[in-house]
Amino acid sequence: MIPNIFNIQHFSTHDGPGIRTTIFFKGCPLRCAWCHNPESQLFTPEIMVDENGVREAVGREYSVDELIEDVTADEMIYDQSGGGVTLSGGEVLSQDRGFILELVRRLADREISIGIDTCGVAPTRMVEDICDDADFFLYDLKFISNALHKQHTGGSNHLVLRNLEVLSRRQARIVLRLIMLPGINMDKDTIERTMLWLRTHDIAIEQIDLLPYHTYGMNKYAKLGREVEYFEVPQEDELAGVKTQIERFYDNVTIGG
Ligand code: SF4
Repeated sequence: MIPNIFNIQHFSTHDGPGIRTTIFFKGCPLRCAWCHNPESQLFTPEIMVDENGVREAVGREYSVDELIEDVTADEMIYDQSGGGVTLSGGEVLSQDRGFILELVRRLADREISIGIDTCGVAPTRMVEDICDDADFFLYDLKFISNALHKQHTGGSNHLVLRNLEVLSRRQARIVLRLIMLPGINMDKDTIERTMLWLRTHDIAIEQIDLLPYHTYGMNKYAKLGREVEYFEVPQEDELAGVKTQIERFYDNVTIGG
């Protein structure tokens, strides 16, 4: 199936080094309760309707040629800033394998840096196939507890942990991203357990980003006619406490990424 794309963001500075173009693929195997891009979850196009009845189509098919033409318009900016292209979503590694591998190969042939933003729920073969051409991975680890992962994302974390081990063994550059949800996964025991798992499995990580839960984008649920669940927003001192705890294990920890 040809992937649907719901956004192409030029001049992005939050999805890896330098100035980048981020391609947002539509479709994700998870249903995180806090997802601030609910329009990214279904693999098919949708319509969002605002309170004034204005309709907005979300998602359309692009060919690989179209994407290459779009993102290479900024090639000079990537060169000057040390940037490139980040493939995000939704979940890019759940998309059509042939399409994604062709896109990645053509970007790599032009020596454009490729970042992969992933929740880790993807076929291991896809992760392996893309590993050599990708420059770095922004890798979400939402819950080390499988029970919590299932409860809050709707899916198991088995593939997340396995694929993280695969990437680490293959010496991929990994930026690990931890969503911070007060009362759910920020307590000392959970953080300790997560760090011990990473250490026991010898996971090499370049940087850990703590991503505080926020409520931006939640109005999109209403536009899609869906219910939204709200969580507590973490306080600065809570985030600082988690950062200090993690720094006993890894040097390079940021709040906010
Ligand atoms: S993995 Fe990301 S895109 Fe998918 S549901 Fe969770 S937050 Fe949303």
